Amino acid sequence: MATQRIIDFLATRRPEGPCLVLDLDVVRENFHAFEKALPDSKIYYAVKANPAPEILRLLASMGSSFDTASVAEVEMAMDAGAPAERISFGNTIKKERDVARAYELGIRLFAVDCVEEVEKIARAAPGARVFCRVLTDGEGAEWPLSRKFGCVPAMAVDVLRHAKALGLDAYGVSFHVGSQQTDLAAWDRALADAKAVFEALAREGITLKMVNMGGGFPTRYLKDVPTARAYGEAIFSALRKHFGNRIPETIIEPGRGMVGNAGVIKSEVVLISKKADNDNVRWVFLDIGKFGGLAETMDEAIRYPIVTPRDGDAVAPCVLAGPTCDSADVMYEKAPYPLPLSLTIGDEVLIEGTGAYTTTYSAVAFNGFEPLRSYVI
Ligand SMILES: *Cc1c(COP(=O)(O)O)cnc(C)c1O
Repeated sequence: MATQRIIDFLATRRPEGPCLVLDLDVVRENFHAFEKALPDSKIYYAVKANPAPEILRLLASMGSSFDTASVAEVEMAMDAGAPAERISFGNTIKKERDVARAYELGIRLFAVDCVEEVEKIARAAPGARVFCRVLTDGEGAEWPLSRKFGCVPAMAVDVLRHAKALGLDAYGVSFHVGSQQTDLAAWDRALADAKAVFEALAREGITLKMVNMGGGFPTRYLKDVPTARAYGEAIFSALRKHFGNRIPETIIEPGRGMVGNAGVIKSEVVLISKKADNDNVRWVFLDIGKFGGLAETMDEAIRYPIVTPRDGDAVAPCVLAGPTCDSADVMYEKAPYPLPLSLTIGDEVLIEGTGAYTTTYSAVAFNGFEPLRSYVI
């Protein structure tokens, strides 16, 4: 949401063009809320959500760990002050030379989801800890992560057994219940699968130690979402239910939930038009669209709150589109967006909840539009 600090920044600095303004105070509050909600879990911030150095430095100074997906992200976390022991290489798809480079940098915790990846880790990062990702159904998530990552629990048993046989530390199981997950029961289903892997390997004398419970914690967009505390309670009771009084080490990897509500995008109305005189839907074109950072509007998955200077006036449905010459650059059309009839070309609007998954998605110069500028305050 637009905090007073963000509003003041925009009013005094008047930055030109579309831009993200992100308030670090909100990130600090979010980190504390996660710590309080799940006091026994280590927090690994998912760097891809927003890798701004100021955010990484703040979180590193607060004791956060980091989930990274590439050598560049590992280096960003280290530059921000995180020691190698607080960084995991959580991408299940890695080049062997990148594994070797991360190992050289001191990284000892790696994600896998197949024996082929285990073989790379065994060669390039001998003795490292590995955790195996299991598939989840993604149900209840507004941005599900599909079947790209993870394997079925029965295969995870084979993968971790193989890791152990190759001299790696078969350390645990991970899952991601899907991003913007508003169904608290999703963790219960995934923890049941994790527990099954723990049990099967225990019968073979392999003791796993850790469950990585991934991200998925939501940001409030147009609909209310449960509080961090509600997530903490649901997850803790699911851990108790499945692991009894032998709860393993746990990790969470919030991305969206850590930074989403800390940022606001300022944008300008470039054009308002109709396709025919008798159309009752107006087309509103902003100076930012899918290629400028709002990629998560794909399939109208994420619906951002939009604040206009004319809020309170009568509204009517609009198709909302970006400024590029690509016909895919339409954000909301299947479900038109109600905006004030008085909205005018040149008005500035605020797109809220845009601290996560925006700057990193913006194209470098599609149609000559600059990448999304970001101010971290
Ligand atoms: C993207 C990602 C996250 C963060 O997910 P959110 O839904 O933004 O919290 C966490 N873990 C992994 C492995 C990821 O790829």
